[in-house]
Parts: sequence; structure tokens; C-alpha cells
Amino acid sequence: MMSLANGRPYLAIPGPSVMPDKVLRAMHRASPNIYEGELHDVTYSLIPDLKSVARTRHDVAIYIGNGHAAWEAALSNTLSRGDTVLVLATGRFCIGWGEMAAKIGAQVQTIDYGQQSDADLDQFEATLAADKDHRIKAVLAVHVDTSTSVKNDIAGMRARLDKLGHPALLMADCIASLGCDRFEMDAWGVDVMVAGCQKGLMTPAGMSFVFFNDKANAAQGNCVTHYWDWRPRTDPEGYWQLFDGTAPTHHLFGLRAALDMINEEGLENVWARHDQIAATLWAACEAWQSEGPLWLNIQDRAKRSVAVTSIGLGADNADALRTWTETHTGLTLGIGLGREPASGYFRVGHMGHVNAHMMMSVVGTIEAGLLALDLPHGAGALDAAARVIAQKPAKVDASPVAASHPERHPAVQRQCCD
Ligand SMILES: *Cc1c(COP(=O)(O)O)cnc(C)c1O
Repeated sequence: MMSLANGRPYLAIPGPSVMPDKVLRAMHRASPNIYEGELHDVTYSLIPDLKSVARTRHDVAIYIGNGHAAWEAALSNTLSRGDTVLVLATGRFCIGWGEMAAKIGAQVQTIDYGQQSDADLDQFEATLAADKDHRIKAVLAVHVDTSTSVKNDIAGMRARLDKLGHPALLMADCIASLGCDRFEMDAWGVDVMVAGCQKGLMTPAGMSFVFFNDKANAAQGNCVTHYWDWRPRTDPEGYWQLFDGTAPTHHLFGLRAALDMINEEGLENVWARHDQIAATLWAACEAWQSEGPLWLNIQDRAKRSVAVTSIGLGADNADALRTWTETHTGLTLGIGLGREPASGYFRVGHMGHVNAHMMMSVVGTIEAGLLALDLPHGAGALDAAARVIAQKPAKVDASPVAASHPERHPAVQRQCCD
């Protein structure tokens, strides 16, 4: 049967993201010697670059696992059974992290901000103030909640903790946002940060990262088991301890290529590109939502992530659109994960290896789908999107980073050590 979907498919979901050919080529090779040589050099070269992307001078442990593995690693390295954690829920993901904390024996206190707003800091502060005995050991926050596409003010949370002199650890999930939305671990006072490799870091799913500072390291309670212990992973006596066994060989080569790409572009430029690509989609959505059932889940641009956008379209319409774009055009959009009804929402992932023509294709394809499905929508979306692309690129202060080690990155280093 004739199909307009035949051709290169485009997976525009919020992770796994599009993998660059450079990453794929770096992985297309025989298994290396795991006992010495290139693999060891490549692995050790990744650590300073991961820290640069996280804007931290502290430690990073690498796990063979997905984002959920990093969640568990972060919790088990810092908590004791019975400790209280405060979950700032702004969508499905932080709730999931809290459920995991409950399973490992923590008492979970949740402030649920719903699915259309960020964490209100006054309410957060009031909860902290009520915790006079400092029972709350850790605050779990998601920088970008991928289910709602809301972006939380992580630095603001640190300011409220400090204002009250509350000693709780501030833990941030940057699985969706790292390498997309601006994030500064040390400057923002984050104690533990978790990330995965398959979103902004453009590498196939299977590796995740836990960044932690000395305060978090000192917090260690009775939850950690041998495999998850971040200490041997960050201070190994032998290479094998970095992963407690065989290294994720090919993922490491892939990640090396991905971090080289980020370094060549410069992290500030990567963030600025994400800003403009996201604004392209938002301009189209604002035109569409002027009439008919489509609406942006987060209306305030300042609170929207530039890695992912959640869009409402009415029950069953979003499912119909996703099915239509995938079957008729080769474009796969993200599901309405965690939403009620899930069939009424879709998400566009614009994280990592995404450029202007890709976003114009997403916008044009959604427009075609709205037409094909007879869904009423405001006019002028493509024109509005094109106007954003046609703008001069944003001026970014920091010059692109030339090499792949932080000591050779004056801009990044200054930022880290302020
Ligand atoms: C993707 C994602 C996760 C889960 O990561 P997995 O690799 O699927 O385990 C957790 N939190 C956020 C914010 C995410 O975007």
C-alpha cells in the first residue's frame, strides 16, 4: 500500500531522544579489552565532562541502568529506614520517585501541586517551617516533570531551605532536563542530582548518573547495599569498581561522542538552541489554541521546559493524532503519560539532537494531522513557527568550549567554582 510514512522515521517523544549518527558510529565496533587501554581512558575522560554538563565540581557515580536506577541509587545512598522525605509533586515523575522512597522504607510526605503548575515555594516554605524537629531528611524535586512539561525553580527551593536553616538534602531529578534546560548544580545548591543518558545526552537508554556533594555523601544511612553504593564507584581501587563489574562498553563510547558534540557546540549554545526550538513549537501551539480543543498544558512560558511540551487535545483526540502522525507520516509523538484521560494529551520531546528543520517538520505534521482528523484549530501556526526560526539566534555570552576537559574550559570552571 502507498504510505507517506515510508522514509526516515522521527521519534519525537521525550526520551529516548534522537541519537546522532556520530553516537551510533562510535558504538558500531567490536567489544574492547575491558582490562586496560582505550576503554579505561575513555571512561575516565567522561567524568570531568559529565561534571561540566551538570555544572558541578563534586562527584558523579555512573550506573548501568535507566533513570529509575539512578532514583534508587540516590535514595539508598542517603537515607535510613524510617527517614522522612518531602516530595514536591508536579506530575507523575516526582510521585514515582516518592513511591520508590516508600518501598525502601522512608516515610513519604507529599505536597501535590497538581499537573499544571510548578511547585509553589511559599507552600514549600510553610511545610519546612512546620517541621520544627527537622524530621525531613531530603526534599525530592523534579527539575522538569516530563509528564506535565513543567519546570521547577530548584534554586528557589534552596533559598527557602537556607532561609529557614533547614538541613534537608535537596535532591533534583534532571533526567529530562540535563543538557536542555539551564541547570547549575553547585550554584543552585543542589546536593544530589540524577540524570539518564537517553534524553539530553543523546545516547541509547541504559546508563544513568548520580551527582552528589560532600554533604550528601556524609548523610549515608543504613539503606545502601553493595551494588548501589556510590563510594567505590567514585573512588575505585580498580577500574571494575566504577561499574561493580563489566563496564557498559558501547554506551561509554557513545556517550564520549555525545559529550564531544556538546563540548563543540558549547553548553550555553546547547541551552540557547533548545530555547529557540521550543519557542518554535510554542508559537505554533499558541496559534492552534486560539480556536478548538488544543491547549498548552503549562500556559506560562517561564514555567515550561524547553526539553518537552505537554499538549491537551481532548479525550481520544490526542491518541488519534498520535496514531495518525505515526501511521501516515512516520512521526511518533509522546503519549499522555500519567494524565487523565491519557488519550486526551500528547507530548513533544525536543531534547538533545533536534534542530530547526526537525521542529518545523513536527509543527507541519501536527497541522496536517489536525486537518486530517477534522479537529478545529486556530490558523497561522506554521507561519508563527517559521517566524521564530527566522529570528536571529540568541546571543550567548560564553564562547563555545573547545576541548573535553574542565581544566581546559575556563568558562565552565569559573561557573563551577564560584
Ligand atoms: C525519563 C524520566 C524518568 C525515568 O527514566 P527511565 O530511564 O525511564 O527510568 C524519570 N524522571 C524524569 C524527569 C524523566 O524524564
